[in-house]
Amino acid sequence: MGNVLKILSEAFSEGIIVVNEDQHIVASNRSANSMFGYRSTELIDQPLSILIPHKYQNSHKNHVNSFSNKSDHQQLGRGRDFYGVKKNGGVFPVEAGLNPFEMFGNKYVIAQIVDINIRKTQEKQIQDLNLKLEDKVAERTIELNKTVLELKSEIHKRKQAEKQIKESLKRERELNELKTKFLSLVSHEFKTPLSVILTSASLIGKYKTVDVQAKREKHINTIINKVKYLNTILIDFLSIEKLESKKAFYNIKKFSLDKLITEVIYDTNMILKDGQKINHPLDLDGVTINSDERILELILFNILNNAIKYSPKNTTIDISTSFKNDKLIITIKDQGIGIPKEEQKFIFNRYFRAANALLDQGTGIGLNIAKNHLENLGGTIYFESQESIGSSFTVEIPLTTNFVKS
Ligand code: ADP
Repeated sequence: MGNVLKILSEAFSEGIIVVNEDQHIVASNRSANSMFGYRSTELIDQPLSILIPHKYQNSHKNHVNSFSNKSDHQQLGRGRDFYGVKKNGGVFPVEAGLNPFEMFGNKYVIAQIVDINIRKTQEKQIQDLNLKLEDKVAERTIELNKTVLELKSEIHKRKQAEKQIKESLKRERELNELKTKFLSLVSHEFKTPLSVILTSASLIGKYKTVDVQAKREKHINTIINKVKYLNTILIDFLSIEKLESKKAFYNIKKFSLDKLITEVIYDTNMILKDGQKINHPLDLDGVTINSDERILELILFNILNNAIKYSPKNTTIDISTSFKNDKLIITIKDQGIGIPKEEQKFIFNRYFRAANALLDQGTGIGLNIAKNHLENLGGTIYFESQESIGSSFTVEIPLTTNFVKS
């Protein structure tokens, strides 16, 4: 009988213990033996109680007793404490499924026993694996986010590069337009002065005697004037090209203000009309400023040149200088034709020329360049003007330029 049960019970992988009506063990399989720490047949004929801790013996006994009279399957230990005790006295939690059955007129209960500790360890392992998995997922998510960010920054960089290429293409196109415009302007603007130079030069050739020296000088002056004018246009254009191609570079160093103004006045003296006079400050000795001398000379020359060009004979041009909050302020005031009120807002636009100025030669670039350079050097330019009364142009330049706008 016992053998039959033994053979049957070995068919199960969980622990199997079969007890008879007296609650004595009649069969136990290998799993049950090793779970409770007994050798193969050691448990046979032992009371079930040796597998149950003392503390629980009564309650368990009653339970199995009452149960063996029923014919249902019952589960013990699930959801509440149910324990087994090993041969060495170690107590461990178990779950047991009890099934009553009858064989050859005898009643038995077969108990399927699971060591919950093992299950718990497995659950813990699963939990740990899950945690590891979660960690891995989190890690991968971070990596993925990083990759997405890198991709985004790559896209941004590409867009930026595309924008830069578009901008430089646009600038290139504008520069080409500027050159074309300048060529047509030059061919028009150069025509008159060049023919004047030609006439004066050929006239000089005819004045051979000493007594016509005055006439000779007059023509020489005319030639100088016109050459200077053509030179100004060329300098302006080179300057504008540099500004446009963003290649404008500045040479910032200390220089004497007095020397700069004297040079500008000297250069324009030769283009003064009859009776025109320039008043300039005498008290600039020793004043130095830190800026780009050549560019300031170009700016002041342009303004003074305009004052002379757009004023009639016998008028005075006043140059005054002052200092305000670390800035040098230079004002050039004339008694010329002035700028019509409605056109004043366009004066700094490139190529703009007021209607009343069209009789005089000009290109409309000088003031535009002056404004751009001044802004790059941290300065400003502005004016006041009244038609037929005169204009007054003021530039403000920082005494010390440390920073140059690129
Ligand atoms: P340009 O003198 O070669 O025409 P500018 O850029 O120097 O070019 O000046 C732009 C315009 O501003 C001039 O054409 C003129 O209409 C006006 N303007 C500049 N300075 C004076 C001035 N001192 N008096 C009257 N008009 C002026």
